[in-house]
Amino acid sequence: MIDLRRSAVIVGLATLAAACATQPPAPDKAMAKAPDANNPLLVPWSGPYGGIPPFGNFKVEDIAPALEAAMAENLAEIDRIAQSPDAPTFENTIVAMERTGLTLDRVSTIYGIYTSTMNDAKVQAIETEMAPKLAAFNDKIFQNGRLFARIAAVYEARDRLGLNPEQQRLLWLDYTTFSRAGAKLDDPAKKRLSDLNQQLASLYTKFSQNLLAEESTQMVVLEQESDLAGLPPALREAAVSAATSRGQAGKWAIVNTRSSVDPFLTLSTRRDLREKVWRMFIMRGDNGGARDNNATIAEILKLRAERARLLGYPTHAHWRLEDSMAKAPERALGLMEAVWKPAAARVHEEVADMQAIADREKAGIRISPWDYRFYAEKVRKAKYDLDENDVKPYLQLEKLREGMFWVAGELFGLRFAPLADGSVPVYQPDVRVFRVTDAAGKHVGLWYFDPYARPGKRSGAWMNEYRRQWHLDHDVPVIVSNNSNFVKGKPGEPVLISWDDARTLFHEFGHALHGLNSNVIYPSLSGTSVPRDYVEFPSQLLERWLYTRPVLDRFALHFRTGAPVPAEMVQKIERAQRFNQGFITVEYLASALVDMKLHLAGDAPIDPRQFERDTLAQLGMPSEIVMRHRTPQFAHAFAGDGYSAGYYSYLWSDTLSADAWEAFLEGAGPYDKAVAKRLHDHVFSAGNTVDPAVAYRAFRGRDPDIGALMRKRGFPVSGSNVAAERASRP
Ligand SMILES: [Zn+2]
Repeated sequence: MIDLRRSAVIVGLATLAAACATQPPAPDKAMAKAPDANNPLLVPWSGPYGGIPPFGNFKVEDIAPALEAAMAENLAEIDRIAQSPDAPTFENTIVAMERTGLTLDRVSTIYGIYTSTMNDAKVQAIETEMAPKLAAFNDKIFQNGRLFARIAAVYEARDRLGLNPEQQRLLWLDYTTFSRAGAKLDDPAKKRLSDLNQQLASLYTKFSQNLLAEESTQMVVLEQESDLAGLPPALREAAVSAATSRGQAGKWAIVNTRSSVDPFLTLSTRRDLREKVWRMFIMRGDNGGARDNNATIAEILKLRAERARLLGYPTHAHWRLEDSMAKAPERALGLMEAVWKPAAARVHEEVADMQAIADREKAGIRISPWDYRFYAEKVRKAKYDLDENDVKPYLQLEKLREGMFWVAGELFGLRFAPLADGSVPVYQPDVRVFRVTDAAGKHVGLWYFDPYARPGKRSGAWMNEYRRQWHLDHDVPVIVSNNSNFVKGKPGEPVLISWDDARTLFHEFGHALHGLNSNVIYPSLSGTSVPRDYVEFPSQLLERWLYTRPVLDRFALHFRTGAPVPAEMVQKIERAQRFNQGFITVEYLASALVDMKLHLAGDAPIDPRQFERDTLAQLGMPSEIVMRHRTPQFAHAFAGDGYSAGYYSYLWSDTLSADAWEAFLEGAGPYDKAVAKRLHDHVFSAGNTVDPAVAYRAFRGRDPDIGALMRKRGFPVSGSNVAAERASRP
C-alpha cells in the first residue's frame, strides 16, 4: 500500500543541519557575541556511544544563546577557509567545509527536538525569534563570495584532481547548492535574496503556529451518550480524556487532529456529527480572523516567485526540482497525470459501491465527503469481510516494534537491544533508547523511540537524525529517532494500533534504517541527505515487510491469547490492499497537483481559495472527496521550503518502491539475501554518494517502471514508462 499520505517527513531540522554543514558566511556584529562557555549545549556531547545528547543537563533558555554562539562559530570556521592564503584545493576547501558546523549541528538537533515534540509557549517564542536568524545565517554562508570563488576554482579543475566518485559527487553538490542559493548574484541581488529568505522564514513560522493553534484548541464537544453512536470503547475513552484535559469533564471531545477525526468519520453512525467534525477539520487555517492562513500563503507564493526569478528560474517549482531526481516540473506532472485518470475513474466505482450500500440500507442519502470513510468501511466489511476491530487485537505496538527489529536483522544484519532506563538521558520519560549493533557485534548507533501523543508534540509520525554517520577522520556513529502519536495505554496494558498505523510504524523505521545503514565518508552525503523525491523510497519499501508471513506469524499476536493473526485474516488483509485506492490516490494527488500548480503560477497574485477551487474543477475532482491537505493547512508546502512543489515526491518514490519490491518477488521472495545485499549496498548504505537514478539502476539492473505502481494500486497498466530515467549529471 501507499504511504503517500502519511509520513510528513522526516528529517525536520536535520535538513537545516545538513545545510549548515556545507555552508559558509561573513562575520556579523549581532552574532559576534562571545560564546558562553557555561552554556551546556555548546559542549561536545560526552558519554558512551561517541557521545549522547545531553538531555536533563540544560534549560530551554539555553537553546537560543547556544544557536547564536554556534552560528557565530560556524561563520568563523567558514571564514577561515574563505580567507586562506593557500590556493584552493579539494582538501583545504571542500573537505575543510565538511569539518565545520559541528556545534551548530548538535544545537540544531536539540532545537529541532524541542520545536517538534516539546513545543510549548516558551519554545514557540524561541522559534519565532530564531527562524529568521537561522535563515539569515544560511544566506551568509551561501553568499560568501570568497568562499564560492574557491569552490568554483576547485570545480573548474575537477577533471584534473583524480577524485573518486564520492568526492566528485560532493564537489558537484557543493558547487550546485551554492549556485542555486544565489552565490553567483551581485551584491544588491544577494541582499534582496537574504531579505526574501528571512521574510519567508517568519511567514513559515506564522503559518505553522496558526495551524497548531487551530488543531489544538478547536474541538467538537459531544454532550450525551447518543452522540457516541457507533464509537467503540477505545475511542470513547480517548474522547473522555480529550474533553477532560480541555476543561469539559463529563463530556466527550473530538479534537481537530487527523488521529482524532479520521476514526470518528469512519465509525460514527451520526451523520450530522460526521459532517460537523469533517467541516471543522477541512477548514483548519481557513476560518477568517487572526489564525487564517490565506493571506500568509498568498504572501509566501509572491515572495517565492520573486526569489525564483532573482535566482534565474522561471518559477519556484523549476528552482525546487532542479536538484531532485525528477529534475523538472514537467516530469513530475507527467507522472501525476498518468496516475490521476485511472485513480479518478476508480473513485467513481468506489462511490457506486458505497451508494449501493446506502440505498440498500434505505439511508436516503447521496454519498458526501463526510460519508466516504464511513461507507468505505462498510464496503470493506462486505467485500473483504475485514473489520478493523478484528485486526487490532493482533497489532500490539511493542510486538510490532520487535517485528521491525527482526526485519532489520534479516535484511541488514542489525541487532537492537534496549538500554536500561536511565543509562542514557531522555527529554521526556516516555522516550526509550535502543542500541544498534551489526552482525559482528560492532556498535552501529542508537535508536530513540518517542511513541506517544502529548500536548506540544506535532501530529503524525516522523524520523529525525540526531547525528549523521560519517567517517572522514574517525567513525562517527549515527543516532536516529522515530516519533509517533499513539495514545498511551493504561499501565500494563498493551497499546493496540490500526493496520494503517502499523504500516506507518514500518515506514518511519525505514527512514531510521536509511540513517543507521549509512556508510559514507562525508557528513553532507550521509543517510537521508538525498533528494526529497528519493528519500521516501527506502521508507515506503520497508512497509512491505509488515505484510510478510514471518512478521505476521511471529509478531502479530493477539494481546490476550498470544495466538498469531489467523491465516485467513491475513489473506483478507492482502486482498484488501487494493481497497479504496481510488480515494487514497485522489485525495493525495489533488494536494500534490495543487501544490505543483501553485508554484508554477509565477508572478500572478494568487487568492489561495479561488486557485484551489479552479484547479480542482479543471482536474475534474470527484465531489465526494476533498484534498488530503487543503491549501490553508498544507504544512508540507507552507511550513517551510522542504516539500514545496515537492508533495509529488511521495508518488515518485512509491513508483520506485513498488518496482523495487518486485525485485524481491522476482527473486526468492522478501528475504532473498542477494537482493537484500544489493538494496543495502546501492540504496540503504549509499546516502547521497551516488546520483539516485544511477544508484537505482545499480540495484535493479534497469530504470524504474511505472507498471509495478499501477499493479500495486490495482489500476490498469498502460505501456508508458514515465518513471525516472537516467538523471543528467553535469
Ligand atoms: Zn516518510
